[in-house]
Amino acid sequence: MKKKHVEVWDNILKVIKDNIPLQSFKTWFEPIVPLKIENNILTIQVPSPFFYEWIEEHYITLLSKAIKKELGPAARLEYSIYIEKSRPEKEGYSIKYPTSQKNSVKNKAITTKINVDNSKEIPNPFIIPGLKKIQVDSQLVASYSFDNFVEGDCNRLARSAGWAVAENPGKTAFNPLFIYSQTGLGKTHLLHAIGLQVKNNFPNLTVLYVQTEQFMNQFIDSVRNNNQNDFVHFYKMIDVLILDDIQFLAGKEKTQDVFFHIFNFLHQNNKQIILSSDKPPVELQGMEPRLLSRFKWGLAADLQVPDLETRIAILQKKLYANGIEMPDEVVEYLAYSINTNVREMEGALISLMAQASLNKKEITLDLARKMIDKFVKSTSREISIDYIQKVVCDYFNLPLDVINSKTRKREIVQARQLAMYFSKKLTKNSLNTIGLHCGNKDHATVLHAVKTVNNLIETDKQFRVYVEDIDKKLKVF
Ligand code: ADP
Ligand code: MG
Repeated sequence: MKKKHVEVWDNILKVIKDNIPLQSFKTWFEPIVPLKIENNILTIQVPSPFFYEWIEEHYITLLSKAIKKELGPAARLEYSIYIEKSRPEKEGYSIKYPTSQKNSVKNKAITTKINVDNSKEIPNPFIIPGLKKIQVDSQLVASYSFDNFVEGDCNRLARSAGWAVAENPGKTAFNPLFIYSQTGLGKTHLLHAIGLQVKNNFPNLTVLYVQTEQFMNQFIDSVRNNNQNDFVHFYKMIDVLILDDIQFLAGKEKTQDVFFHIFNFLHQNNKQIILSSDKPPVELQGMEPRLLSRFKWGLAADLQVPDLETRIAILQKKLYANGIEMPDEVVEYLAYSINTNVREMEGALISLMAQASLNKKEITLDLARKMIDKFVKSTSREISIDYIQKVVCDYFNLPLDVINSKTRKREIVQARQLAMYFSKKLTKNSLNTIGLHCGNKDHATVLHAVKTVNNLIETDKQFRVYVEDIDKKLKVF
């Protein structure tokens, strides 16, 4: 026999399924796990805070009706947000999201509450007087784990150095470990991953992730409250100190001073320090030279823009983690179109899921194109040779790598020539670059290809249809 909460949830799902499009149902309801019914309170587990907010925004009325139908007018709903067991000291911690409150007022009949959360609120970092052993909230976000961090050429050094540090904090040559990159490429994620891994490996070590701005504000507060010593003491107790975005220390002399002091103490005592910044140490402006020279003691490793394959893998990982399905072609399209920044790519993914649910549409390539158009209009975007090759090969049902093969088979030569033709027409790349990317040919070959295609367009009706079709596919860009 099924457990009662499972049975009740099944019935609720039936009602919901009848009332919303299948895609939305799959996206937002299938990943939910019913946990229990107690005192007429149904608790459901959702995979992320984003899920919870989305359901509250868009489906609470329907959900509340369905619940009342099953459990009566006094029924209540509680959410539990799934987090991995990285912060045992936080279990049962409960926080009210603003949306939760808003909606419980709006839908008086059903109150909602959230049980566990991974809010980034800063706890007071200072030692509570009278307590010998302090509990430090590491401020680590469970989902930013190594498991969820996709490895690629773009991040191999930084990732493996981070891994080594997590295996042996304070005892490798990578102290400090200094990770730098432009924004949105995974610094924060990697810092959390290292911290989480240290906690896994060494549960007794005190790990603290802190943003430089938090650090600064805590310091300023401590000066104001005249308890600067407590501040310094607190940081001296940390075994693994992770400071994110230290470029914000620029020009803040007092904070740099106190950090210098803390840094030296920790380093001398073989504690691990991990830093991130948007620039390598040599390019950081407004930093005291003695601090900069410390940053160079360990290892500085950068994160670069991930290549296409890694971008696809990252998207797939995010989808999987959220229990969402999306056609491969859509995922590939997103990865092709947004090639500067992982955060933007994820933003597009979330918008797409949101759009599909909101307009009750399936997530299709067409929808993705329309959405991406709006999404990236402001940033300059140029169609890439890679993308052109993909569209051409897909059109003729050829595997992508034939373009770069040596073969002289007619259909393949033709596909290659078309790829060159469109690359010349639609991108700003030089003939040399185009040749290099299309089978390692020289610029004369590209020029010849362009002429050949132009000739064929005029003389061969079937060929003209090909060109027009492909042109259309590329123009939605
Ligand atoms: P930064 O701190 O460099 O600005 P973040 O760490 O905030 O970047 O990363 C932005 C988003 O991209 C995050 O959601 C992060 O999970 C994701 N991300 C970046 N790189 C990767 C990767 N290699 N694998 C998985 N997710 C990644
Ligand atoms: Mg960051």
